[in-house]
Amino acid sequence: MSEKDFEIVCAKIEDKKEFLNSISQEIWKMPELQFKEVQAHAVLTCALKRCGFQVQKHYFMPTAFRAEFCPKKDVGPTVAILLEYDALPEIGHACGHNLIAEAGLAAAIAVKAAMEEDAELKGKLVVMGTPAEEGGGGKIQLLELGAFEGIDAAMMVHPARVTNIFPRTLCNIRLSVKGSPDFFFFINFSPLNKCRHDESSLKLRVEASSLHDQF
Ligand SMILES: [Zn+2]
Repeated sequence: MSEKDFEIVCAKIEDKKEFLNSISQEIWKMPELQFKEVQAHAVLTCALKRCGFQVQKHYFMPTAFRAEFCPKKDVGPTVAILLEYDALPEIGHACGHNLIAEAGLAAAIAVKAAMEEDAELKGKLVVMGTPAEEGGGGKIQLLELGAFEGIDAAMMVHPARVTNIFPRTLCNIRLSVKGSPDFFFFINFSPLNKCRHDESSLKLRVEASSLHDQF
């Protein structure tokens, strides 16, 4: 993605922030436990349809879904953004899965906007609704059912008290990144990241990198 693409992404999220917040609030106000996320499933699939995605409700599981945007057929990688939306017993969305849904939706509509504007961006964008993450192992079940077949990479954010750019993951790759300070600013300070910001870490990275770093 070019810097222009990032500008499109940021502008889209800014433009849609009230809509995104309303989705998050709707899920927050009606917490649903694992495998019973009926309302969240309805709200999110409706939102994705409104935003121009091709939506498959009840994807392998009653409260899972899959939405796609693919401007050019069979060209480029298939990248999935994962959404969670289940709550905890008694304390509702204390883990913030409504924010995971909001952030994933934000990323999806913003990347779609960039793909629409920039013909260089090729590939298929998949938005996957993954139920039952509060102990239900929803993604494991979806994986075993074949829901991730054909997906080249999957990503998700989870809210926390701190910013962690090296979270524990099942696989880890080093990326070579070229970009301006704005690029790093985007990663660490975008509206998608509502966590407390680790400014010293950001500064170190930008200074050490001379803007052409590996991380
Ligand atoms: Zn969680």
